[in-house]
Amino acid sequence: MSILALAQSLGITLRSLFSKPVTVPYPDAPIALKPRFHGRHVLTRHPNGLEKCIGCSLCAAACPAYAIYVEAAENDPEHPVSAGERYARVYEINMLRCIFCGLCEEACPTGAIVMGYDFEMADYRYSDFVYGKEDLLVEVVGSKPQRREAEYTGRPVRRGYQVPYVRPELEGFKAPLAPKPQREEEDEHESA
Ligand code: SF4
Ligand code: SF4
Repeated sequence: MSILALAQSLGITLRSLFSKPVTVPYPDAPIALKPRFHGRHVLTRHPNGLEKCIGCSLCAAACPAYAIYVEAAENDPEHPVSAGERYARVYEINMLRCIFCGLCEEACPTGAIVMGYDFEMADYRYSDFVYGKEDLLVEVVGSKPQRREAEYTGRPVRRGYQVPYVRPELEGFKAPLAPKPQREEEDEHESA
């Protein structure tokens, strides 16, 4: 190896020593996700609280992995659950079958099922991977195993991610926001 090549390689090592690391100490620090990340689904609601899902099963028909099961029921006009004539009495997604392709979201005529950001879904029993409405409806925080752990330990559910902004499709969903990149803050300051 020539002296020049040796100096070049040492230069690269020295540069790397003082550059910002690209690794993240997850789970102690949250990882930054892109806004269109495909994580655990969320069943969204209208601003008046009614569920957007009308139990039409189009998402189940579109799902290439046969992961979705829907059972519809008629709404009681006095106490409707959804904004349509019918609602999903049962709505289940088998997360072991799901390939997180997002076709269910594309197929939904009411924007009810939306891909969210939670990805910490490791669990032990097969049955625990079947997520029902009690796991998917918006405002339900975290994934099933996280909730269980939080109940056992008395600690709040921790979310291991941050996003720069929440997609508008995820109406009512509160995700932890990442601090703005420094360059954007500087731009805002200059334009003010
Ligand atoms: S993300 Fe894809 S595989 Fe998963 S439930 Fe939706 S359509 Fe099925
Ligand atoms: S989530 Fe959308 S597509 Fe699926 S049953 Fe509900 S309204 Fe129909």
